[in-house]
Amino acid sequence: MPLTNAQARDLAAVVHPYTPLHKLREVGPLVMGHGKGIYVYDTQGKEYIEGMAGLWCTGLGFGNEELVDAATEQMRKLPYYHLFGGKGMEPAVELAEKLKEIAPCPVDKVLYCSSGSEANDTQIKLAWYYNNARGKPEKKKIISRVKAYHGVTVMSASLTGLPNNHRDFDLPVASVRHTDCPQYYRFATEGESEAEFVARLAANLRSMIETEGPETIAAMIAEPVMGAGGVIIPPEGYFAAIQPILEEHDIMLIDDEVICGFGRTGNWFGATTLGMKPHTVSVAKQMTSAYAPLGALLLPAFITDMLEQQSAKIGTFGHGFTYGGHPLGCAIAVKTLEIYQRMDIVGHVRRIAPLFEKRIKALADHPLVGNVRSVGLVGGAELVADKATKRSFEPAKTVGAIVARYGEAHGVIVRAIGDTIAFCPPMIITEPEIDEMFDRVEKALADGE
Ligand code: PLP
Repeated sequence: MPLTNAQARDLAAVVHPYTPLHKLREVGPLVMGHGKGIYVYDTQGKEYIEGMAGLWCTGLGFGNEELVDAATEQMRKLPYYHLFGGKGMEPAVELAEKLKEIAPCPVDKVLYCSSGSEANDTQIKLAWYYNNARGKPEKKKIISRVKAYHGVTVMSASLTGLPNNHRDFDLPVASVRHTDCPQYYRFATEGESEAEFVARLAANLRSMIETEGPETIAAMIAEPVMGAGGVIIPPEGYFAAIQPILEEHDIMLIDDEVICGFGRTGNWFGATTLGMKPHTVSVAKQMTSAYAPLGALLLPAFITDMLEQQSAKIGTFGHGFTYGGHPLGCAIAVKTLEIYQRMDIVGHVRRIAPLFEKRIKALADHPLVGNVRSVGLVGGAELVADKATKRSFEPAKTVGAIVARYGEAHGVIVRAIGDTIAFCPPMIITEPEIDEMFDRVEKALADGE
């Protein structure tokens, strides 16, 4: 098909992240024009169900007028201000107060940034700063997990446990260690029960800590449900098994809620759903329903007290982003949280999750689908070359990408993560819309046979 004018201009001027760039010229970029509800429309007017809420982020879908009004009002009133040097503005305070109320662990204060990567990057800086402050300068290593996704800055990409984010970028940095991925389907040994799998992962974590030396390890970072690694839901008891080991060795637990936060798993935070008891939390994405970029760290008192004490000792707290806590993002986030609360988003997700689960489970009948998993309104279907042996396709990624492309032809956008098809629709999705989404996906799978 010849490229449209919008496609040709895009190709000539834009570098596309997370894209097989050598192939883009063949298929052409998919240039979106507008969106409404769970739907987006390309510049040719073709309709798609946004089955991924963009990048796991447009919780309230597209075209929400209340968010547009909140943004417009804030733009008129005070389009920019910052928090440096003790300055402040109302939207940043109001949002911080709300976040403290709903946080999954005791939170003293909120530190803002603009993205999930920046939030996680900052978490590590604070963990280092904290250990220097308390006279443990050798306690600096960070444990993450294979298949984790924590972002793309130098540190957050190092925490990420995916080869594609490391290869030829000279990452990960030396202080990061990756422990096991808690995916039972892929990593359990022959005949191992879920409980045995969890116990083995906990034992491996303990032995990593002991080998490295607990006095050298500052923190562990984890997503409650691993999103961009392939929608991996740890088995029952996973966090309950690893948390005491971290406690025992004075290792802080950082909860990356960038995808799971704000209702996605059927609670305000994924930590509650998965039994995680974090010390500190990173949030972004659905906090603003993606109508503006914003990230934040929800910090416990032992960190905020330390920051104040360090300032007394060494002077100004030397960290901050120009756009951290941007008033536009904060005003939109305040309105987003108000809408989530008013429409009882947590209750809504819980009410419609059973249909989402039923439809995703039905995909497992397809000859290409080896494993399906879901919690709340996030799920994955893993495609395999052989269901009996779980053998993956070679090369990985090809089949998932092809099915995702067929999905676009049938008017649904899903994401291929290797050969896992991920689903994460806007949380406002209704039951008939869930059926429509999976009907379109089933057509795409049928094309892939
Ligand atoms: N953490 C998690 C769990 C994520 O899924 C992502 C992005 O998908 C990030 C961090 C990075 O966020 P950002 O792309 O806003 O930097």
